[in-house]
Amino acid sequence: MGRQKRFAGKDKTAGSQHRGVNSFRPVGQLTWLAFETTTRSEGKLGSMDVLTVLAVAALAVWAVVRIVRYIRKERYFASEEFAAHRDEIVSVVAEHNEVGQYAAEISARGSFRIGATATGAQAHLATSQNTSSWNYRRDRNLANYQAPNVHNCSLQVTRNASADPIKYVMKYFNIKPSEQTLEDVERLNESIARLEATLSNLHEREASITRSVDPPRFILKHYEHEFMQQVGVELAPISVPYPTYVFEYVSAGGNSSQRTTVTLDTPTLDALIETLGQKIRWKKSAAGQRALMTSRLRFFIKERDNHTCQSCSVSVAAEPHLLLEVDHIMPVSKGGMSTPENLQTLCWRCNRTKSNKVLQ
Ligand SMILES: [Zn+2]
Repeated sequence: MGRQKRFAGKDKTAGSQHRGVNSFRPVGQLTWLAFETTTRSEGKLGSMDVLTVLAVAALAVWAVVRIVRYIRKERYFASEEFAAHRDEIVSVVAEHNEVGQYAAEISARGSFRIGATATGAQAHLATSQNTSSWNYRRDRNLANYQAPNVHNCSLQVTRNASADPIKYVMKYFNIKPSEQTLEDVERLNESIARLEATLSNLHEREASITRSVDPPRFILKHYEHEFMQQVGVELAPISVPYPTYVFEYVSAGGNSSQRTTVTLDTPTLDALIETLGQKIRWKKSAAGQRALMTSRLRFFIKERDNHTCQSCSVSVAAEPHLLLEVDHIMPVSKGGMSTPENLQTLCWRCNRTKSNKVLQ
């Protein structure tokens, strides 16, 4: 018994001694921390509380606003009013979606690079950049441009290219004034102009659909995409793949650089076509008589045809959002010329049917 007591006593002493050593410091640290906190934030403690309360309140208001908005949105899309509007414009939406598919066809079938033509003839520009010693692709530029045509040059050339883009693109990207080049550039211009016109037509149709349904403002502000989905409009994720030419100067040390980008959009292509037209020495006299296929000529043909399809007689007067195109009666690929006699206005439906027939 005495031994046991002794042992127990010894244990107790050892235990308490042990505990004493280990537990002393934390208590001391806690006291010190508490002291720190009070001295540091004394006086600010009140304002901190207010801030926390305000933040929580703001968060609550934000959440409530969003929940209420969500409920209102769900109610609107489930309403009879919305259903009635949607039923009224079913055919308008169906045509919109068909024009969207047409845009996808133009995007897939069109030629958006000079040289990469449908005939495959004279793919001169695309290849010349890789073979020329002064004209190479840089990896760091590939990150910025999808299909860049980058010319590395002096600062002076970069500056001049910005002042006189047509001249410098022709000179440094080897665009030789020939009938074939002109045909390629005209084909590129036509693809770009058609896609631009179709996409802007789609946007007009979307705006008109929105106007006719006339949803509450908060729907357009916060749920525009969902609105289009609910109406049944398929938004085409298509953009115009403009070719770009880049002149870039990088100093020897790489510290300074300057870049001029020339985008071949419709105005630039029109200017390029006109420049080529002036420089070409025409081989055939008949070819020299033809008009340059620019946006000005397309506008002239539509005006001449009174904005009316020459095949089915539908007009912009009857259909305000009608998409009209200018067509070569005898296709260029079959020797048809860009003369006003060989050009006609067609609506997108007739032109689509015609080009499908030509392809088959
Ligand atoms: Zn037609």
